[in-house]
Amino acid sequence: MPHLDERLEHIYNDVTRRNAGEAEFHQAVREVLESLGRVVAKRPVYAEDALIERICEPERQIIFRVPWTDDKGKVHINRGFRVQFNSALGPYKGGLRFHPSVNVGIIKFLGFEQTFKNALTGLPIGGGKGGSDFNPRDRSDAEVMRFCQSFMTELSRHLGEYTDVPAGDIGVGAREIGYMFGHYKRLTNRYEAGVLTGKGLFYGGSRARKEATGYGNTYFVERMLATRGHSFDGKKVVVSGSGNVAIYTIEKVQSFGGVVIACSDSGGYVVDENGIDLNLVQEIKEVRRGRISEYARLKGKGSHYIEKGSIWDVPCEVAMPSATQNELTGRDARTLVKNGLIALGEGANMPCTPDAVKLFQEAGILFAPGKAANAGGVATSALEMQQNASRDSWTFEQTEARLAQIMRNIHDDCASTAEEYGAPGDYVLGANITGFVRVAEAMRAFGVI
Ligand code: NDP
Repeated sequence: MPHLDERLEHIYNDVTRRNAGEAEFHQAVREVLESLGRVVAKRPVYAEDALIERICEPERQIIFRVPWTDDKGKVHINRGFRVQFNSALGPYKGGLRFHPSVNVGIIKFLGFEQTFKNALTGLPIGGGKGGSDFNPRDRSDAEVMRFCQSFMTELSRHLGEYTDVPAGDIGVGAREIGYMFGHYKRLTNRYEAGVLTGKGLFYGGSRARKEATGYGNTYFVERMLATRGHSFDGKKVVVSGSGNVAIYTIEKVQSFGGVVIACSDSGGYVVDENGIDLNLVQEIKEVRRGRISEYARLKGKGSHYIEKGSIWDVPCEVAMPSATQNELTGRDARTLVKNGLIALGEGANMPCTPDAVKLFQEAGILFAPGKAANAGGVATSALEMQQNASRDSWTFEQTEARLAQIMRNIHDDCASTAEEYGAPGDYVLGANITGFVRVAEAMRAFGVI
């Protein structure tokens, strides 16, 4: 593990001691602290008044019981979470994840990362994250609705367009947001459109929101490739996952002339040397909520499915991990580098393990960290809030143009900060420092809060 500045070491030790067993949260904090050594050396004021310690401590953590009844009348209990991490720049903002692996450490890592990501967008949003260990897979629509209503019954006490504005994440898409918004509206007797984002277009959603994270990552990587005279055109690309982020990454990469040859789900991955047929992936995953294994069976010639195994064994020039945290290991990184990787953009949150990131950076691979590269989703959520606040609705082109501009700005801000701090091309350092300074400056202005 890289060395931490001695002014920061005790902060990391305190975080691990006070948040025992929360491995992902420790990992996310450590990665940011590793970047901050250069900041406190240059501007020691940031090491004063326990400012960094305060940034590592969530403002509020809510854990609650979610009882619900399945179609057979059996009662189930899940656990709900909302971590309101930092509101220095605006109301807490960040998605809800429904997945059996969810626990408080995962939600805290996501909320912590979200704080810096949201600062990078340049829009007035704080950081938060939430979710539940509920597994929507194989549940009927009626069961998902009852779960969402029970979840929102408690969560609604903590939300509001000026307080906390959730959105979707793994396992939470348009269906779940619809059930939750409908229930919130009923509980509060207010049509408070700005309380949730990722809403359907008929009731206050924004055009380009569902595409935004995947499109945004692609815009970021395109600009990063351009710094070395490359583009997506003709490049072999591998995108892990086949959910919201993966699907719209594939769509945008294809529109830029890239050839996406593999995608996956938690069961395995599919390779199609002719280029992934996106309509077929959408039909299987979005419409039928099926398994990616069906792709090879339906597509036939030129494609094959590998159960389990690592999608990163597939040789490519650009990798865009878009499934989940720690899905790409040091072993995978070595394989990708050996196979000629040029660039990687993290669509998911923290998909690369720390040793994988180190390997990429040592090998001179263009590496875009999730907090910068996947910020397009939350940025467009903030644009949805703007539209709701002004009772307006923008066109797709107008919204996508704003998204593209935001991604260009994030790229350029990260690049120039990295340069300013003596590490040109280090987007991890650039993203962490840019986000940190924005949050830190606001917190200093507020006094000890
Ligand atoms: P979805 O639920 O739409 O899709 C998730 C995809 O990842 C599915 O294909 C799923 O497979 C796969 N997956 C989930 N968990 C695992 C696992 N443990 N191992 C292997 N594959 C897995 O989620 P999103 O596309 O919304 O989110 C993907 C990532 O992007 C997450 O890290 C999320 O935090 C991040 N992100 C999402 C944003 C958004 O706007 N949606 C914004 C910024 C970041 P299966 O179908 O088998 O479950």
